[in-house]
Amino acid sequence: MNDCLFCKIVSKEIPCEKIYEDKDFLAFLDINPVNQGHTLVIPKKHSRTILEMSDKDTKEIMIVVRKIANKIKKSLKTDGINIMINSESAAGQIIFHTHIHIIPRFLGDGLKHWPGQEYKPGEAQFIAKKIISTV
Ligand code: 5GP
Ligand code: ZN
Repeated sequence: MNDCLFCKIVSKEIPCEKIYEDKDFLAFLDINPVNQGHTLVIPKKHSRTILEMSDKDTKEIMIVVRKIANKIKKSLKTDGINIMINSESAAGQIIFHTHIHIIPRFLGDGLKHWPGQEYKPGEAQFIAKKIISTV
């Protein structure tokens, strides 16, 4: 994937403010942070979204994410942390190389949760059945 921005960060063609690196994963500061310390954790091996990653890599990247999130929380004295993954354009993905956002949160920082909506009677059961029955 020569034209992938994050592959170019992995290969050091494009610089980043590195937070963590091991043989499989890299973490660096987001160039346009929601709050200071906003970090992206990526697998070095290209995949479009996390939905395509192996079980092993998925487990391992989440361990890296948890460790870095704890370091961010402690060092920047955050009140909270959002851990987010946008998969595909409809979900807000702009860079199509799997990445996990670690977003430091502070009380009163103004970010809002997405709006929720109620199920009509029977809808929740119908949707749950549809998900469960799909292999
Ligand atoms: P997405 O919307 O795809 O989940 O998020 C992509 C993120 O990558 C955005 O938050 C954006 O600010 C960040 N980003 C885009 N280009 C670069 C870059 O060249 N360097 C870094 N460090 N972050 C980037
Ligand atoms: Zn890539």
